[in-house]
Amino acid sequence: MSPFKAPPKKNLGQHFLTDRRFIDLIVLAVDPQPGDRLVEIGPGQGAITFPLLRRHGELTVIEFDRDLITPLMEASEGLGRLTVIHKDVLQVDFGKLASDDGHGAGQIRLVGNLPYNISSPILFHALEHAAAVRDMHFMLQKEVVDRMACGPGSKVYGRLGVMLQAYCTVTSLFDVPPEAFRPPPKVDSAVVRLVPLPAAEVGIHDHALYARVVRDAFGQRRKTLRNALSQVCSGADIEEAGLRPDARAEQIAVAEFKHLANHLSALPPDRRPA
Ligand code: SAM
Repeated sequence: MSPFKAPPKKNLGQHFLTDRRFIDLIVLAVDPQPGDRLVEIGPGQGAITFPLLRRHGELTVIEFDRDLITPLMEASEGLGRLTVIHKDVLQVDFGKLASDDGHGAGQIRLVGNLPYNISSPILFHALEHAAAVRDMHFMLQKEVVDRMACGPGSKVYGRLGVMLQAYCTVTSLFDVPPEAFRPPPKVDSAVVRLVPLPAAEVGIHDHALYARVVRDAFGQRRKTLRNALSQVCSGADIEEAGLRPDARAEQIAVAEFKHLANHLSALPPDRRPA
């Protein structure tokens, strides 16, 4: 008999994956290798946890729902070494996790069918710890994955994609229909792979300034760059960075945003954004 008795909790985004085909596809995509430090966010009733544990022998999970902790431990007996962290994932320091597991400093690999209501905060939290993360495989709303992975010119190209792609390669892997979950969510889902870029490849000199340029540029996406960025820089600054001040944010590639932010950060102090 299953040790999981509590009904799914809507406020914790609990849509449990039940279709074996997609569980297998996720494990295949992660493809754990000996020595990998796997960390799953939101194990729920163990749909991905137990196959990963069986295959890899060792897994750390972060789960916020108290009712799931004991059943997870019970059901994992005999499958491998499961470490359960009962915490809000947004309060977990991935850097510490990567250096604290008794194996010395290293990187973790994140996996998760994420609670959709807090998926963007989780993504930005992971980005903050990008140096500690080797890669991430996440199930998210398909609409969010489309925004994360698309390039300029797409209707859904925006702040999320430009922020994530500045720091990671983002690959949409496969779609998952609502019927694959219990209870089914109202939206389609997709699995995405994010691989953080080495710091030298990121090439952003002032991260806060990059984030500000991107935020303002897409704050009013119909405006020209000159108008949208009026609090950050002048039209002449934009031109000096090789961009057209009358272009719109949705036409600007990630590399161009980086170039603009780096150009602004190198201006003399009296011309630099306040
Ligand atoms: N991995 C399971 C599966 O695929 O069936 C469950 C996925 S369910 C979409 C999301 C899981 O994240 C739930 O188990 C939920 O309790 C957990 N969760 C929600 N908010 C969380 C948070 N802030 N920190 C950690 N886990 C959280």
